[in-house]
Amino acid sequence: MHTYRNLLEPYDFGFLKLRNRMVMGAMHTRIETLDQPVQRLAEFFRERTRGEIGLILTGGFAPDLAGRMEEDAPVLDSPDQLAVHQAICRAVHEEGGRIVLQILHAGRYARHALCVGPTDQRASINRYVPRTMSAADIAATVQAIANTARLAREAGYDGVEIMGSEGYLLNEFVSLRTNTRDDAYGGGFERRIRFPLETVQAVRAAAGRDFLLVYRISAIDLVEDGLTGAETAQFAARLQQAGVDMLNTGIGWHESTIPTIAASVPRAGWAFAVRNIKQAVSIPVIASNRISTPQTGEQLLADGVADFVSMARPLLADPEFAAKARQGRADLINRCIACNQACLDRIFTERSASCLVNPRAGRELDYPRGRAGARQRIAVIGGGAAGMAFAVYAAERGHAITLYEAEAELGGQLNLARRVPGKSEFDETLRYFRARLAELEVRVELGRRVTAAELRQAGHDAVVVATGVAPRRPDIEGLDHAKVGFYDEVLSGRRKVGQRVAIIGTGGVAFDTAAFLLAEADESLSPELFTRHWGIDATLRSPGGLAAPAPQKAGRSIHMLQRSLDKPGGHLGKSTGWILKSRLRRAGVQTLAGVTYHRICDAGLEYSCDGVTQVLPVDDVIVCAGQLSRDEISLALAGSGLRVARIGGARHAVELDAARAIEEALQLAQSF
Ligand code: NAP
Ligand code: SF4
Repeated sequence: MHTYRNLLEPYDFGFLKLRNRMVMGAMHTRIETLDQPVQRLAEFFRERTRGEIGLILTGGFAPDLAGRMEEDAPVLDSPDQLAVHQAICRAVHEEGGRIVLQILHAGRYARHALCVGPTDQRASINRYVPRTMSAADIAATVQAIANTARLAREAGYDGVEIMGSEGYLLNEFVSLRTNTRDDAYGGGFERRIRFPLETVQAVRAAAGRDFLLVYRISAIDLVEDGLTGAETAQFAARLQQAGVDMLNTGIGWHESTIPTIAASVPRAGWAFAVRNIKQAVSIPVIASNRISTPQTGEQLLADGVADFVSMARPLLADPEFAAKARQGRADLINRCIACNQACLDRIFTERSASCLVNPRAGRELDYPRGRAGARQRIAVIGGGAAGMAFAVYAAERGHAITLYEAEAELGGQLNLARRVPGKSEFDETLRYFRARLAELEVRVELGRRVTAAELRQAGHDAVVVATGVAPRRPDIEGLDHAKVGFYDEVLSGRRKVGQRVAIIGTGGVAFDTAAFLLAEADESLSPELFTRHWGIDATLRSPGGLAAPAPQKAGRSIHMLQRSLDKPGGHLGKSTGWILKSRLRRAGVQTLAGVTYHRICDAGLEYSCDGVTQVLPVDDVIVCAGQLSRDEISLALAGSGLRVARIGGARHAVELDAARAIEEALQLAQSF
């Protein structure tokens, strides 16, 4: 059994003790926009505290109206707003945890008309032009932040985190990229760090010495004219002198064009930037970004990179992360796979966050844990994401489950997804399900294509059909030509593909298949490859930590085609689609919209576009034209008297993804 000695070591600030070195990082979940927000938030944090996390950082609360991220973002500026905070603090303290409120002033990232900044320079990712802050505005903002800290103390929080990274207001003042002022708050380094330092001093004065004061510093800006490593280290030391108890680290600005938390970032890939801060201060430092396993966290602490590790998304994926690490049961941790699909992508489209691998996250009130009244015998047909998840959720409710899978291994479409560069984290989902199914004593029959007749006789009470999808075979002449292959054959490695490729379709699977065909190696598994590809200066000598990206090697020639006139790749995830598109663009992949397919023949793919007919002379035509439901069994079970339910792709193939499959599994399991 692995013991995570460093992760599990308590920490004593004198006025505050933390039970371990695991921190739940701040996340703006938008849970507060759902019904019953107070109860929901309290339950969300209570569950994570029961899971033994050492310290929780809340999502960001603005100190005033100008500082809100968007119109309906939460603000804490008045005693009338304390009720929700008191409920949250009570829930956490009742369970023996500690909680800190994050104060976030969005600066020029604020998506509303009151947006302010060091100058009136608009952020590339925001359509609102900021108003330049006057010295009086700055003084008022310092006081507003101090006032929020005072209110946080009154509500019962154990401290506050001042958000000073990711390109938000305080970060904007520190950086030459955004701060071109020539007054007392701009110009030289000393003047640019003045606003953050005055903020820290005011918060300390307002909230007292025995109140945890965390500052989140940008460890590497990843934007032009950002700080060098030496300047960041100097700033960190000045924050300590100003009275900060602990430094948390942020990586990159929201406008930077380098991935910072997506799955293509290697685990603990930013350790070099965190270490730079750790070496400059004697107060504890928190490492963050792409720390999703106890092993990764333990290694960072053992190597002296940081004193704490912050995990935000991993705590959505598994609220019991810390408890399982303590018990030496890391194999049972439901790991965050850094897909961003059900968390950030939902937040960016103004929905509330949950988690692909744990749809209970943020919905704890809707899906209470508990045993069912009567134990039922349920057959689950299909061991993909939907089938495995249903088997686990239903077994947790006390039902006796038999899971039939026709293939020799569990996983279904996840076995294809895991082969896509940057998606190897799906291995963790498969590992989790296998471990959990074994622990719950679910009977798993692999390589077993069960028939309706067998199911009728087996004495089950219900059958859940989770037989998934099959690739769509579009009606194009020549589809049986030897040049034609389907994405499942390519991703599974069953089909060898030549140098010149046409891909029919431009959906997520087509982009993934193109990325697969272009990849020399998976950069998420190689920090060296990652930094070279994206142009990151790991020595931190250059401003913002930027370097010239390595030139792309000539690889396959790929054309991706679609019939519609929509923007190719327009449906990719908001927070990850740009990474995929940028990678393919750099590799010279061509996309064609508005095509009509004619035929596939020895010469290649014949199509017309804008009234011109031509032939793409390719070696292979790979079909990624969506999927159709696969369900031969439901009809055969009609009239059997068994309850039959369908989930995932077997129920509805269009726009299927693992998030929907797993959520449907949870919903159905709750009904048994
Ligand atoms: P999809 O997103 O529905 O895309 C299907 C593609 O096939 C479209 O480009 C469509 O373009 C084309 N197509 C559909 N019917 C066709 C026909 N009869 N003949 C020729 N072309 C046809 O399906 P998918 O790519 O398989 O993805 C499935 C689901 O997984 C989606 O919900 C997707 O969002 C999700 N996914 C997402 C990602 C990601 O975000 N990275 C990765 C993998 C999967 P035209 O109809 O215009 O020709
Ligand atoms: Fe992690 Fe994906 Fe869940 Fe977000 S949705 S917490 S990235 S597994």
